[in-house]
Amino acid sequence: MESGKAQLVVKAPAKINLVLKITGKRPDGYHDLFTIMVPVTIYDTLRFRRGGSGIRLVCKGRDVPVDGNNLVWQAGEAFYREIGSEPDVEVTIEKAIPVAAGLGGGSSDAAFTLKALNRLYGNPLSSARLHAMARALGADVPFFLSCRPCVARGIGDLLEPLQKWPEFWYVIVVPPFGISTAWAYGQVKLELTQPLENYIVKVQDSLCSDIVPLLENDFETVVLPSFPQVAEVKDLLLRVGAAGAIMSGSGPSVVGLFRDPEKAKVACLSVKEKGESFIARAYRGEGVGQAEKA
Ligand code: ATP
Repeated sequence: MESGKAQLVVKAPAKINLVLKITGKRPDGYHDLFTIMVPVTIYDTLRFRRGGSGIRLVCKGRDVPVDGNNLVWQAGEAFYREIGSEPDVEVTIEKAIPVAAGLGGGSSDAAFTLKALNRLYGNPLSSARLHAMARALGADVPFFLSCRPCVARGIGDLLEPLQKWPEFWYVIVVPPFGISTAWAYGQVKLELTQPLENYIVKVQDSLCSDIVPLLENDFETVVLPSFPQVAEVKDLLLRVGAAGAIMSGSGPSVVGLFRDPEKAKVACLSVKEKGESFIARAYRGEGVGQAEKA
């Protein structure tokens, strides 16, 4: 274990889903998916400081639990259990990623906590071990370990990185209410979701050239009827020039895809009254390599 590094600051990005197909329900209650996930440049900032005793959390910016319900705490606990040490870390989270918005903030924080602690302690855990721990923390957590555009299958943990990814500016609008992922899964009628085989062929043929014709999210079938504001945001993004628009995850965030940054900026201003709005690009960092020593 290295003792020289006592502090680390990490930027944990959000994600968007541009395709999300629910393909089945497993006996353990998880759902099987086919999804395309892209990490984007909206970040929580996590500061890890070794010392004291236990795991101490401080969160600024947004309202999330700072006890054992926080995924950072759970990731920390899993890490110390795995290396067989008593916890001794304070974590400050500057939370910029909207919560329960379909942007994966909690999962990203958890993955970057695993990577940061591993680095802070001299990399005692292998990538395979980190992946297994990430999967136990949540279906989206393994994605944030590699943190690059991926096709994900299984519960979202079988990841196939996409070597090339088209350039876009993403205007992300977060209507002012949260949607519980558990509620959204409970509403989906699996027999109504479309068969996947033809779709996958279509995706493989056109990925890396243009994602716009492929945008699809099965959760829209349950979220749009219950939350018409989400449909309004989608329509507005298209009217102000998006090449395509799609809800991310189980919502309520909606992503508009723009090829032209100027159009994206103007669009971002026009959708402001619909919710918190961001312009983001695909995150190009390299996992915890993005971390910098404080
Ligand atoms: P997904 O798309 O993966 O379902 P999401 O973006 O919709 O995720 P999150 O922002 O990750 O949802 O938060 C979901 C729940 O997790 C919230 O109820 C929140 O209180 C809890 N939570 C626990 N730890 C965190 C954290 N570090 N950041 C955000 N939420 C957290």
